[in-house]
Amino acid sequence: MNTIYCDVLVIGGGAAGSRAALEAKQASPELDVLVVVDSGYDTGGSTNMIASEALGINAPFNYEGDGDSVDIYEQDTVTTGGGLANPELCRIIAEESSARVQELMDLGLEFTQRDGHIEQQKLSGCTKARSLTCYGSTGRAMTGVMKRKAQALGVQIAENLKITRLHHNEQGVVCGAFGTKNGQAVFVSAKAVVLATGGASAMFSFHVASPTQTGDGWAMAYDAGCQFVNMESFQCGPAVVKPGFTFIIHSHMWRLLPKLTNASGEVFLPRYCKDGVTAETALDLKAMSYPFSVRTDAKYVDIAIFDEIRKGNGTKNGGVYFDVTHVPKDVLLEKAPVTYETLLKAGIDIAVEPLELGIGVQNFNGGILIDKDGFTGVEGLWAAGEITGGVHGSDRPGGNNLTDTQVFGYRAGRAAAAYAATHPRTGEERASEILETEPDEAELAIIRESERLYYQYMTVIRSQEGLEKVLAFIEAQEKTAKSSQLKNRLTVGRLMAQALLARKESRGTHYREDYPATEEAWRRRIVLQKGADGLPVEV
Ligand SMILES: Cc1cc2nc3c(=O)[nH]c(=O)nc-3n(C[C@H](O)[C@H](O)[C@H](O)COP(=O)(O)OP(=O)(O)OC[C@H]3O[C@@H](n4cnc5c(N)ncnc54)[C@H](O)[C@@H]3O)c2cc1C
Repeated sequence: MNTIYCDVLVIGGGAAGSRAALEAKQASPELDVLVVVDSGYDTGGSTNMIASEALGINAPFNYEGDGDSVDIYEQDTVTTGGGLANPELCRIIAEESSARVQELMDLGLEFTQRDGHIEQQKLSGCTKARSLTCYGSTGRAMTGVMKRKAQALGVQIAENLKITRLHHNEQGVVCGAFGTKNGQAVFVSAKAVVLATGGASAMFSFHVASPTQTGDGWAMAYDAGCQFVNMESFQCGPAVVKPGFTFIIHSHMWRLLPKLTNASGEVFLPRYCKDGVTAETALDLKAMSYPFSVRTDAKYVDIAIFDEIRKGNGTKNGGVYFDVTHVPKDVLLEKAPVTYETLLKAGIDIAVEPLELGIGVQNFNGGILIDKDGFTGVEGLWAAGEITGGVHGSDRPGGNNLTDTQVFGYRAGRAAAAYAATHPRTGEERASEILETEPDEAELAIIRESERLYYQYMTVIRSQEGLEKVLAFIEAQEKTAKSSQLKNRLTVGRLMAQALLARKESRGTHYREDYPATEEAWRRRIVLQKGADGLPVEV
């Protein structure tokens, strides 16, 4: 087995991992800091995806002069979190976001400007215009400037190395990780580890995130003894299925009152709207609520699209028709230029023909429970970014995820460096015990089936009956699973299914069709951890 030595190991090179590595090195230049990614550094993870018209990062600079402030930002995050976000972390993100975003600008990041100042836009769950953007490539631009600086300082990068397990010493202190590169087993020995592998969207058959997001980080953290919070809270939303690439259309497209039809040509949305909400109102609200959330009446749009598809009323591409041919081309070009041009290049002129939309998994609001410094509670292990939970609750203001990566990537990187600088290397003698197995054809087929089931029963519409089917599948497969890749997906699927089953209400991104109301008694977080028998228990 190849062995690599470092002081601080950062697993993942998206916005969170890039920030953690940079800060670890800046805080303690004498340390060897290594970032490991399972892909190319500039291509892996959600951060590097260009799959929407604009990615926003929040900071209350108040460039638009609408009175935004740290206090208002904090309040928006707490309120949108539906009672499930950690108030201490909400305060920190509000207080430190501007400094972290300013540092990105100091490294050379140029945000979009309008009328001589940086433009800030109001995204869902925000009461003020707070989001800065470099159009669809905000995340890629962020990692670009951080990588350049980190490499100049001496941070090392190992690409195409997929980590599947953490290593710990006899005292249970995390001190490295195992993975594979080109089919070869690799061991990385470290004094401190930061997990920044992002979310797990790619565990679902249709998602808009990167294929690298298969949930390995969560499975590793679960085995290491971490606690998980708000695992039932993750975001799904409409995304293009034809033309055949993943893309989130510009929010303004919903304001153009598209005609949504199923494969039979039925305008189905009015059938799903309840409590006096009209289809027009639901569509209009969708412009300000990209991800599905029961927080707003835009929820009827997502429920309707998802239900039509799952009942077999969708198109053969797994979507419904989204028709704006009644809107003049010049209006489309004015209101959603990138969407129009992107779809045109892909073969569809939306001024003359409908596109097709399905519902994709986008982003996770829950994850590893962390403290204010990204510490996981397991000695030697920190976490940052989408892999963590607590900063966001049952829902989150749009633009907060990228801010989260910077504020808590900064804190986690510095805390891990402080630990590595004062603790010796341990655990090397046990490292040769573990060998990795790649999934064979049969296991790959099981992985595809898990993606289908997870998508069908754990995304927009959830119910006890569906979740029990998922758990039965997991239980059957766990008995024979051999590869870490399959085992990890089963572990994470179980964690999610158990959280979804436990929350017997609907709140934010979590909609139970058998418990549609939001209940005051459920204004509490579900925290899960590996129990004595290896299965998740609520703590
Ligand atoms: C289409 C889309 C639009 C979005 N829009 C917004 C927005 O407007 N505003 C906002 O705030 N957020 C948005 N988000 C969410 C945001 O982009 C992510 O939450 C954020 O980029 C996550 O950053 P991260 O560093 O935590 O994880 P990622 O960027 O996902 O990075 C994970 C890293 O870990 C690596 N990795 C994964 N598994 C392994 C493994 N086993 N071994 C080694 N390396 C591994 C990956 O290769 C990658 O380098 C959007 C997401 C998507 C998909």
